[in-house]
Amino acid sequence: MMDRAEISRILSDVGLSETNYGTFDGRWVDEGVERIVSHSPVDGSEIAGVFATSTETYEHVIRKSVEAFNRWSLMPPPERGILVREIGNALRLNKEKLGRLVSLEVGKTKSEGEGEIQEMIDVADFAVGLSRQLYGLTIASERPNHRMYEQWVPLGPIGVISSFNFPCSVWSWNSFIAAVAGDTIVWKPSSKAPLTAIAVMKVVEQVVERLGYPQIFSLVTGSGGTIGELVSGDRRIKLVSFTGSIPSGKHISRVVSERLGRTILELGGNNAAIVSSRSDMDIALKGVAFGALATAGQRCTSTRRAIVDSAIYDSFVERLIRAYSSARVGSPFNEGVLVGPLIDDKAVENFLNAIEQARSEGGKILFGGSRASIKGHENGHYVIPAVIEARKGMKIDKVETFAPILYIYRYNTIEEALEIHNSVPQGLSSSIFSNDIREVEYFLSARGSDCGIANINTGTAGAEIGGAFGGEKETGGGRESGSDSWKSYMRRQTVTINYGRDLPLSQGVRFDI
Ligand code: NAD
Repeated sequence: MMDRAEISRILSDVGLSETNYGTFDGRWVDEGVERIVSHSPVDGSEIAGVFATSTETYEHVIRKSVEAFNRWSLMPPPERGILVREIGNALRLNKEKLGRLVSLEVGKTKSEGEGEIQEMIDVADFAVGLSRQLYGLTIASERPNHRMYEQWVPLGPIGVISSFNFPCSVWSWNSFIAAVAGDTIVWKPSSKAPLTAIAVMKVVEQVVERLGYPQIFSLVTGSGGTIGELVSGDRRIKLVSFTGSIPSGKHISRVVSERLGRTILELGGNNAAIVSSRSDMDIALKGVAFGALATAGQRCTSTRRAIVDSAIYDSFVERLIRAYSSARVGSPFNEGVLVGPLIDDKAVENFLNAIEQARSEGGKILFGGSRASIKGHENGHYVIPAVIEARKGMKIDKVETFAPILYIYRYNTIEEALEIHNSVPQGLSSSIFSNDIREVEYFLSARGSDCGIANINTGTAGAEIGGAFGGEKETGGGRESGSDSWKSYMRRQTVTINYGRDLPLSQGVRFDI
């Protein structure tokens, strides 16, 4: 078990206590209707409680967010950028402390916990630059003395519903971009990781208060079925950016489209790496192992399938199993651990059930696939990552089991590799390890990878924030973070200005009144 004093120290370092208010609307709302408890996957112990948001309080939060939007949306974007810059700086100062809380609450290793905060800092930097680059096109008008252009206008309050596995960076991908776009943001974090959200909001609170801005960032906490439903059904929320599983995403998509609201859907992945005989095997090995094992297979971009050229199949698999044997499973607070716990016992059960199904469908377990007991952390949720040789016709490899299971396939031609690759319903991230330009270009062609992310000689996991992030097919089609994803947080307005002395009509239409 973790030392209680150590848990209290991690909490107090980020301004949390044994029980915390889970609603922020510019101030912390003092209500105590429903207390939810956050448990650590590291050893199953109770970390702290959170008072969830009641329906009445939710209503109040949204009203304030609408009011704040009316002020914030009128500010010049570069001024909005100053706020985001200051938040980024405050996060820099708190990176280590917040990273430790992420490790405690969701079980990420120290390096990955801090990486989560670094990602927020990176997005803040990106958003600050963006605040001076929100551009629109000028279009040639067919009419004399007319000017046409498009401008981008703030959208309104938006909702961010986030998953447990990126307990705060997903919020920043959306919120920092949306904030410079002039929106206000209501965040509903995962009820498996509310403490990280509260701690981040405490950092944000200080900056917003110091600079005297309105309630740009709000927080509501509670279960998906209560508070999450309120957010998705709320007409005042113009866009719901949802990150989570495919079944939840399908439901939310229906609820939001019923009211003709907008969504960004960032759902599950079933990502594969193709390993060619013409690759640098050391790079491929590291890329596949990192992709499959990091965050204990709980990344949307985790490598779940390796499609390996039969010419190197045996040697690659042998080296992979050796790498798996040396990857230490245990508490993320212990030096040298590469694979932390799964989020809860339900996730361990899902892992074990998937292994069982794979076995019954003819899959051959090459490594792992069982529960792991970690000395001193017996109530933690640990497993031995699995490597399974897949069989044709299996069903379990078509679903995303959110745990470290890697299915391995053998291929003979690049066409066959892509056929296996594209045979799943999800379409988030993909990669090929190859130094053969023909194979690489085939992978990048219209007959190649059907995913939103296509990587060459680097694995499926670990995206940078500068690109637009998201996937195709059942992954939902959303794009977030970099490139021109900012457009999703604004509405496009096509403007035509007539500065002449008569009224010519388009398409030469005459109306001589
Ligand atoms: P989840 O679907 O269980 O929950 C995600 C969020 O949705 C939580 O905040 C939850 O409270 C909320 N929610 C659940 N039901 C709801 C409802 N009816 N109405 C409104 N909100 C509701 O997912 P999870 O287990 O937290 O996260 C893991 C999943 O997220 C995986 O499938 C993973 O691939 C996916 N994910 C995708 C991306 C991406 O960018 N594509 C990134 C991270 C995680």
